[in-house]
Amino acid sequence: MISVTSQPVTGYAAMASGLPLVPFSYLPPELGEHDVRVCVTHCGLCYSDVHAIDNFYGDIDYPFVPGHEIVGTVSEVGVDPSGLQVRDRVGIGWQGRSCGHCQWCLKGEEQLCPDVVTNGVWVPYGGFASSVVADSRFVYPLPESMPAPTACVLLCAGISVYTPLKRYQGPNVQRIGIIGIGGLGHLAVQFAHAMGCHVTTLSSSAAKREEALSLGADDFVCTEDKAAIRLLVQSLDLLLCTAHGDIRWESLLGILKIRGKFVLVGFPNVAFNPTDLVAHELTLQGSFVGNRATMREMLSFAQQYGITPRTETMPMSRVNEAIKLVRHNKARYRIVLTNG
Ligand SMILES: [Zn+2]
Ligand SMILES: [Zn+2]
Repeated sequence: MISVTSQPVTGYAAMASGLPLVPFSYLPPELGEHDVRVCVTHCGLCYSDVHAIDNFYGDIDYPFVPGHEIVGTVSEVGVDPSGLQVRDRVGIGWQGRSCGHCQWCLKGEEQLCPDVVTNGVWVPYGGFASSVVADSRFVYPLPESMPAPTACVLLCAGISVYTPLKRYQGPNVQRIGIIGIGGLGHLAVQFAHAMGCHVTTLSSSAAKREEALSLGADDFVCTEDKAAIRLLVQSLDLLLCTAHGDIRWESLLGILKIRGKFVLVGFPNVAFNPTDLVAHELTLQGSFVGNRATMREMLSFAQQYGITPRTETMPMSRVNEAIKLVRHNKARYRIVLTNG
């Protein structure tokens, strides 16, 4: 093992649920056999970070350093770093580790590992910091010409939408609806379009029309426009819901074809009349990030097709300002924090 530093790691932590982040430092963790230390140059700010600060998932220990869309440079490697070397430019997504021996890990679906949370990249602390330690088997070399902010967003939002689109689209699933044109949705439109699907975008904000079409959507429908929604009844094979908060469940379920699929990657409020779900034998399905093979495939697909998240960068010292923008749905569309 090459030891480079014992300087404290400096970053930003929430000291209790919902509080603004404050400067925080801790001693750098020792590297395990497969671990690498990565000096963080960029880290995306994701809605999940805000949810985690608020302990929405109920599994957060404080002090809590968020950040799971990490790009940086390898600064130190363990005994078996999966071929990674000091100075490699790499990315790390939400999943920093897995147990390696449960049925899901053995099947290559390690995102479903029961220990995924205790193995996440937030353990012990996340990427709003000068460095992180992750298992090299979950650290991805990045295409050389891919800008760091692009990579940050693809590592979480990208994999989250690419995985279900790739899994479910095919000759019989070509007409796809994307609900929500935000951090996840604006990438989902680009991926679905690049896969050759017919893409209908749906948003409660009519102002998103031009943006949706410029991202590659074939149509845009405002979910408040009842007449336009009526024209879509039973016309889509799959709806990918990237929205948070309240959505119009009944009318949206009604636009799926019989046996269509409604896939959730966002966390909307769930309350609906199940008539269409039952009578049309619809499937309601969750989808959670993706496995490592899909991550590698997604990064190369994104590079090949020029999938480009819309990002703005801010210095990490302005993290609380950035969090406020995300909380108020004012980020267009993803904020990436920069170090140094
Ligand atoms: Zn994320
Ligand atoms: Zn496992």
